[in-house]
Amino acid sequence: MSEALANTRPFVHLHIHTEYSLLDGACRIDQLMDRVKECGQTAIACTDHGVMYGCVQFYKAAKKAGIKPIIGCEVYVATRTRFDKVNKIDGNNHLILLCKNETGYKNLIKMVSAGFVEGFYSKPRIDKELLEQYHEGLICLSACLAGEIPRAILAGDYEGAKAAALWYRDLFGKGNQLLVGRKRIFRIQAHLADGIRSIKIR
Ligand SMILES: [Zn+2]
Repeated sequence: MSEALANTRPFVHLHIHTEYSLLDGACRIDQLMDRVKECGQTAIACTDHGVMYGCVQFYKAAKKAGIKPIIGCEVYVATRTRFDKVNKIDGNNHLILLCKNETGYKNLIKMVSAGFVEGFYSKPRIDKELLEQYHEGLICLSACLAGEIPRAILAGDYEGAKAAALWYRDLFGKGNQLLVGRKRIFRIQAHLADGIRSIKIR
């Protein structure tokens, strides 16, 4: 490990797209574990987009490398319900879900499967009804610029962002929800980070 990396504060990536996020992720899982070790990190999450195809390979590779695997998924949440599929009306918002325990893992499998079997519309979509039913054992993150809360912030809808943040906090429980805003790499992300910080729901 280089001295510069060794001196950085402990850090764990909780939003990672592997090669199983088709057209979205570039990380080869084995090479990813090498890099995690090189950076002195002790854990890493797998949050492929809408799918869990890579979880077993990810888990085995992490264990072999002595890294703690955190199984998760960046799910697509239907803007109405998973059964609504009307062109130009029914889209999706992104949401990161991480498993805290085996119950969470089983619940995530149920939701991701339902996303394909019942909610597929351009993407495998879950919905808030499924989240209400299967949230136990899971932690949620506000996700990327395409998350429900970030989208409301970027649209200037502070009240909408706060309402969404409260809905997720009340469902998952305090301590099981993380609002994430990146540092100032791009102006739009700086704007989002400021918006995320401004939401007072504790
Ligand atoms: Zn995303």
